[in-house]
Amino acid sequence: MSFLLPCPNCGPRDVAEFTHGGQLGNGPHNLPEPQEERWFHRLGCRRWFVAVRDVRDNSVAHTRWLDEDSVG
Ligand SMILES: [Zn+2]
Repeated sequence: MSFLLPCPNCGPRDVAEFTHGGQLGNGPHNLPEPQEERWFHRLGCRRWFVAVRDVRDNSVAHTRWLDEDSVG
C-alpha cells in the first residue's frame, strides 16, 4: 500500500516516510468511512499530526497538528 500523505509542515509525501500511530478516540475500528489517525513524520519534520483518512481509497480530507486539538 502506497499513497501520499500531506504533512502540515512538509506537504504531500509518500506514506513510507511516516509512522502510523493508530486511530484517535475509542470508536469502532475498520469502518468504511473517514477516520482520524495519528501520524508521525519520521523521515521529515519528526512531528505528530492527525489525518482524516478515508480508508476506502486512502484519500486524506484534512490534516492538523496533534496538539492543536484535544485527543479523543
Ligand atoms: Zn513533515
